[in-house]
Amino acid sequence: MRTDHLVLYHNIDQVLTLEGVAKKEGRHTTESDLGLIENANIVVNSETNEIEWIGPSKFMPLEYGEIVNAYAGSEELWIPELVECHTHLVHAGDRSHDYALRVKGKTYQEIAEEGGGIATTLKAIRETPLMNMVSNAQAELERFQRYGVGTIEVKSGYGLTLESECRMLEAVRALQETSGVNLVPTFLPAHMTPPEFKGRTDEYVEVICREWIPEVSRLKLARFFDVFIEEGFFNLAQTKKLLECALAAGFSLKLHADQFTDLGGVELGVKLGATSIDHLEQISEKGINALANSKTVGVLCPGASLFTGTAYAPARKLLDAGARIAISTDFNPGTCPSRNLPLMTTIACSQMQMTVPESLAAITYNAAAALGLEKELGTLEKGKQFRVCHLSQTSYESLPYCFGEFN
Ligand SMILES: [Zn+2]
Repeated sequence: MRTDHLVLYHNIDQVLTLEGVAKKEGRHTTESDLGLIENANIVVNSETNEIEWIGPSKFMPLEYGEIVNAYAGSEELWIPELVECHTHLVHAGDRSHDYALRVKGKTYQEIAEEGGGIATTLKAIRETPLMNMVSNAQAELERFQRYGVGTIEVKSGYGLTLESECRMLEAVRALQETSGVNLVPTFLPAHMTPPEFKGRTDEYVEVICREWIPEVSRLKLARFFDVFIEEGFFNLAQTKKLLECALAAGFSLKLHADQFTDLGGVELGVKLGATSIDHLEQISEKGINALANSKTVGVLCPGASLFTGTAYAPARKLLDAGARIAISTDFNPGTCPSRNLPLMTTIACSQMQMTVPESLAAITYNAAAALGLEKELGTLEKGKQFRVCHLSQTSYESLPYCFGEFN
């Protein structure tokens, strides 16, 4: 047997495969779904970076014993590399003043109405050249990597002119080529109505559909299309129009829905087969049922609730109803400037009554599913990408327990 393309990692203290999580499509996760293997071996095809074999050392087929490129595992716990499925990684400017205002009692909407909020970032992004965008985002990516993250979704949505939105997405493309991180770009022109279209949101939606979606699709700059459906931003009819247009142009769909107000976004997103619907702090019983009976992943952002002092999403209800739930930082300069994805599991467990196994599935398999990548990432199984996160602790339970510390 030819083995020169294979690499063997042997006698790894503990590996969590999360195989059972994948079998149940990320629903109703319990500890037994985590697939703990003690003294594990992993055989990797170095040409494709795919796992060829994984299991207890004693069960490894004899022929793999001939592999020359072999490395002994250490006293570590290996889990699937973490997946961050919702970020606004490319941004510019400083929003610390928004935070000071919010602490004094102003709401997100009030800050936006007074010219702060997204508008501050928008002004800064429009003035930022591509090269600076890339170098700023590179620094942010490295911070994410320190927390075990190897795949990150990145949204546009701070330029809101066709040129500046494309520049943001080009920055993501440039980073994909130079960094070791797997990047997933999302086009979010409907993040807010830009000043040029103030009071004319319908017209703005029309321009996005007629000109911007075809152009971004032609340039193949994004895989997903996203809308912020919210009071004072985009209503249900506008969101429907945008999503249908993006779907017809070949984009997969995401949605920021029910963050502050339930406008029926979840039901719409599920009906249109959105890959994920994110936030869900104000989701209704009807919305919970719609989501739970679909393949659409619900992405929760507990860090944004903590940081802004607003309500948490009803994680327990969603999980008990059978929804597929992922957790994200929602990394952005306004409502959650944290890159610490493991910390989000602490908040999810302590504040949203998620269990530790559920929280682990939420930043691996289910986060991969929120990007449509669960067949390649999120578990350690034959045929999947060999992307692992090494924990120095002896139990996966230390991940939320360490409360912001990581390794
Ligand atoms: Zn967001």
